[in-house]
Amino acid sequence: MTTRLIDESLFENGEYDGGDPPRLTGARCSACATVVFPRQNSCPRCPDGTMAAHVLPVSGRVWSWTLQTFPPKPPYRPPAGGHRPYHVGYVDLGEVLVEARLAVPRPEIRIGLPVRLTTVPAYRDEEGTDVMTFAFRPEPDGER
Ligand SMILES: [Zn+2]
Repeated sequence: MTTRLIDESLFENGEYDGGDPPRLTGARCSACATVVFPRQNSCPRCPDGTMAAHVLPVSGRVWSWTLQTFPPKPPYRPPAGGHRPYHVGYVDLGEVLVEARLAVPRPEIRIGLPVRLTTVPAYRDEEGTDVMTFAFRPEPDGER
């Protein structure tokens, strides 16, 4: 079984070996230190800085969440067997809020929950490759 990442530009290095999840990479402004994700070429807060690749922390806390009950608009592709509802929300990584899937069971999910970066299967492409996307799961050592 082969896997690949859904969008290699989001990650520190585009290779994925199925082990530890690759780190998410955004960009940081050289002038005001604003961090953005995904990467962009100009700072949203000031006209002075240049944006450089910036690897994000792997741990954070759920900032808000909701249940994605219906299939999102493209480029979303439903998995084999069709769309199943999943949690989605914002994770506060300290320096930036990241929109992500939340691989957290319904009884556990709450604002403030400590979470850690992981990957989850998004869909299987025409070549039979499992396409992985990033998500956050409950921090194993986090307070509950
Ligand atoms: Zn700036």
